[in-house]
Amino acid sequence: MFFEILYSIFSVPNKGDLIRVTENISMQKGNATDNTFFTSPQKVFYNIILPVPLRQTFTYHLEDEANICIGARVVVTLGGRKHVTGIVAAMDVTPPTDYQTKPIITILDTEPLVTEQQIKLWQWIADYYMCSIGEVMKAALPTGLKMENKSLISLSTNYNGEESLKGNEAKIYNYLSNNKSVDLSKITKHIGVKNIAPILQRLLDKDIITIEDEVQQKYRPKKLTYFKLAQQLYEDNTLEQTFNQLKKASKQQELLTILIKDYEKTAVNKKTFLKIHGFSNAIYDALLKKEFITEEQREISRFDKNSIERQTLNALSPEQQIALNIAKENFAKHKPILLHGVTASGKTEVYFYLIREQLDQGKQVLFLLPEIAITVEMLQRLTAVFQDKVSIYHSRYSDAKRIEVWRKINANKGGHLVIGARSAIFLPYRNLGLIIVDEEHEDSYKQQDPTPRYQARDVAVMLAHQTKANIILGSATPSIESAHNAQLGKYGIAYLMQRFSKVALPQIMPIDMSEAYKKSKHKHHFSFELINAINEALEHKEQIILFQNRRGYSGFVECKACGYVPQCPNCDISLTYHQYNNKLVCHYCGYEEFYSEICSQCNTNQVNNKGMGTEKVAEQAKELFPNAIVQRFDQDSIKGKDKYETIISKFRNQEINILVGTQMLAKGLDFDNVALVAIMNADNMMNFPDFRSHEKAYQMISQVAGRAGRRDKQGKVILQSFTPDYELIKSIIQYDYTTYYKQQIAERKDFNYPPFVKLIDITVRHRDRHISHKAAQLLANEIREKTGICTLGPEAPTINRIKLLYLHKIMLKIDNTKPLQATKNWLLTLVDALKTQEEFKRISVIFNAKN
Ligand code: ADP
Ligand code: ZN
Repeated sequence: MFFEILYSIFSVPNKGDLIRVTENISMQKGNATDNTFFTSPQKVFYNIILPVPLRQTFTYHLEDEANICIGARVVVTLGGRKHVTGIVAAMDVTPPTDYQTKPIITILDTEPLVTEQQIKLWQWIADYYMCSIGEVMKAALPTGLKMENKSLISLSTNYNGEESLKGNEAKIYNYLSNNKSVDLSKITKHIGVKNIAPILQRLLDKDIITIEDEVQQKYRPKKLTYFKLAQQLYEDNTLEQTFNQLKKASKQQELLTILIKDYEKTAVNKKTFLKIHGFSNAIYDALLKKEFITEEQREISRFDKNSIERQTLNALSPEQQIALNIAKENFAKHKPILLHGVTASGKTEVYFYLIREQLDQGKQVLFLLPEIAITVEMLQRLTAVFQDKVSIYHSRYSDAKRIEVWRKINANKGGHLVIGARSAIFLPYRNLGLIIVDEEHEDSYKQQDPTPRYQARDVAVMLAHQTKANIILGSATPSIESAHNAQLGKYGIAYLMQRFSKVALPQIMPIDMSEAYKKSKHKHHFSFELINAINEALEHKEQIILFQNRRGYSGFVECKACGYVPQCPNCDISLTYHQYNNKLVCHYCGYEEFYSEICSQCNTNQVNNKGMGTEKVAEQAKELFPNAIVQRFDQDSIKGKDKYETIISKFRNQEINILVGTQMLAKGLDFDNVALVAIMNADNMMNFPDFRSHEKAYQMISQVAGRAGRRDKQGKVILQSFTPDYELIKSIIQYDYTTYYKQQIAERKDFNYPPFVKLIDITVRHRDRHISHKAAQLLANEIREKTGICTLGPEAPTINRIKLLYLHKIMLKIDNTKPLQATKNWLLTLVDALKTQEEFKRISVIFNAKN
C-alpha cells in the first residue's frame, strides 16, 4: 500500500521542524561545480518562487552570470504558460537531475523587490499553514507586481498623453485606448512580442497603465465627475458658432455662459455645479453629447491629508505611563507585550508614544487593524500626529498606491509608519522597529479563504521574532491564546482598567426572556424593560443601538402546514429571507429566489417567517416607536456606494435615533450620544458549534456594550437572554475577565482544545458524495493508525454541500508530543499520494491550521 511508503517518511528520525527555506537560500556559490558534468559549465542555476500551488522547488538557468539578485522578479515559462512572473529565492543552486532546466526569459528588477527576510517569512507561512510558498507569494505581492496571464491591463486615468511613446509601447497604448481592459495574454497576442513583461513594466513605471486582477475589479475607488468647456472650442475659435447653434436651447447656452464666465478652463465638479446653478442632468448630457464639454473622473482619496490639523501627543495619565514602561521593559527582553485595556482606556495614546520613539530613530512601524473599514478612522488620528510619515495599505486600496507604499518601504528612507489590515504584514520591511496589533482578538485577522489561511496576528509575532522588532498586542478582551501566553510568561502584560475619562463602564442589565414570555411582559422581541429604556432615551434625545447578530429578516422561512424549509439547491442549507428585495438568499453561495407564501411542496399558503434578523428587529422597532428614525446597519444595508459612510455620519449627526445592526457595529466605531445598547438575543451567539463560540460571544457582547455612553455619561446596556444565569453571561455583566478566562482555559484543557493542542481542520470536497466520504474515511483511518493523533470524523458538516461539492470534515488535535512540522508535511504527502489514485484524482483537500 502506498501508505506504508509514506509512513516511512514520517518515521524518519525527527530532525525537528524543517525549515526548507534555509536549505534553499544557503546553497551558495560553488555547489554547482559538483554537477558540472551534467551541464555546460557556464550555466548558472536559480531557484524561482512561482505562483502555483505545487510544493516544490523550481530551478531555471541563465547562460551567463547576469545582473540578478535574490528578491528580483523574473519571467519564465511553466508548462503551457508563457509568462509567469516569479521571484528569485536562491542563486547558484545545484541543478536538478531529473529534468532539463529552462532559461529565465527576462529579469524584471535589478534591485530586490522582495527581501530575503520576506522569503524566509513566506516559507514559514507556507510550512505552518500547509500551502506552497508560491501561494503565499501570490497573496503577498500587489497585483501590479505580479503580471499573470489573467491580470487585466488598462490605461491609467492619470496619464495625460504628454509623453510620446514609441514602438511597442505606443502599440500597446493604442490598443488599450480602443479596448477598455484586456488581459495579458490578449495583449501578447495582439502585439506579437514574445516577452511583453518588460514593456508593460516600463509603462507601469510611467503610470500609463494599471494592472489589476478580477478580485480588485470589484472595488472601485471613490470617483467624482469633473467637467470643463471642450478644449476644442477654444482652439478652433468656434465658441461663437457654438452659441449660435444653441439658440433654441437657452438652458444649455446658459450653462455654457456660466462655465466660460466663472470657470474658464478649470474643471468643475459636476454634481456641485448642477446643484448650485440649478441645471438638470439632461441639459448636461445634451452638451456632453454635442462635445461642447468634456468630462473626466477624478479619484478622490477618502480624506485629505492636508486638511488635518497637526496635533502633538497628549500627556499620559499615570496608569498609561505605567503601561508604557512595562511595554518598554519587555521590549528590552525581546518579549511581546499584551496590552489589556478596556474600551476607551487610552491604548491608542500609549501606542503613539511607542511609535514616536521608533520613528525618531528612523525605524519602520507596522500598525495592524482587523478591518479595512476602521483603518480610515485610525489613519486620521495617526496622520494628525505623524503627518507624512504615515501610509495606508490594504487589499482594497488601489494597486498603484499599494505599489507606491511597497516601494517606499523597500527603499527604507527614514522612519515610516504603515497602517493596514492583515495584508500589510507582507510589505518589504527593511528596518522594522515595532508592530502593533490592535484588537488582537479579532477573527478577521485569520484569513479563511482562499489559501494561505494565515492568522495575521500570529504571523506578526513571527515577523517580529525574525526581525527582532518589538510587538504589542492590544485588546479590551484578549484572545484566550494571548492571555494564556501572558500567563505562561511568554508575553509580558500591561493593564488599563479604567476608561480615560474615568466615566464608569456601562451598566449591563440582564433580562430573562423566558420570564418575559411566560408573563407576557414583552412586545414582539422587545421586553418591557427594553421598551421603557428606549422610550426614556428617546425622551432625552439620546441615541440607541439594537444589536442583532444575524442578518436578513429572519433566520429562515418554514411552511406551517408541512414543515418544509426552502433550501439552497447548491449548498444544502436553509435560505434566509430578505425583506428589502423580497428574496430568499443563500449566505454561502449567493443563490437567490423570490419569496412566496405558497409552499413549493404542499401548495398551501402557509409559509411563514421564523427566527429573527436585523430586518425584523428594525421593522418591530419602527412599529413600537413610530416617532423614531430607525436605520439598519449590516452587510445588506451598506451594499450601495458609500452607504457605510453615509449611515455612520448620519448616526453621528444624530439624524438617526435607533440603529439596528450586526457585529459590524461593534468594531472600533465610537459615537458620542449613545445612551443605550440592547443585545436582542445573547443566546444565539453562544450556541454555534465551534470551540471558540463562548469566547466570541464574550468578546462581541463586551464590545457592543462598550458602544454605550463613551464620553461623559455612564451608558446602559440591556442584555436579553433565555439563560441569564449562565456563567458566561455573569462574567460579562460583571466585567470579570479573570473568571471568564479561568473557565475558558479549564474547558479548553479538559476537552483538548487550543492552546493545549494544535487544531487542524481537513475538508475533503468532491462532486460525488460517496467519493468525498470514502477519501475522507481513508485519510482519517491512515492518520489514526499511523500517527496516533486524535482524529475526529470524518463527518458531513451541518452544511455539507457548498457550490455543488460535497464536504467531509476531519479534525485533528495534535498535542505537543508530536513533531508539528514533520506531521504537517506528512499529511500533505499523504493527500498527494491519495490523489494519484484514479478514483480520487479530482478530490480537493483543504487544510486549515486553526492555531
Ligand atoms: P482605546 O484605544 O483604549 O479605545 P483611546 O486611545 O481611543 O482608547 O482613548 C479614548 C479617548 O480618551 C480618546 O478620545 C482619547 O483621545 C482620550 N484619551 C486617552 N488618553 C488620553 C490622554 N493621556 N490625554 C488626553 N486624552 C486621552
Ligand atoms: Zn447556496
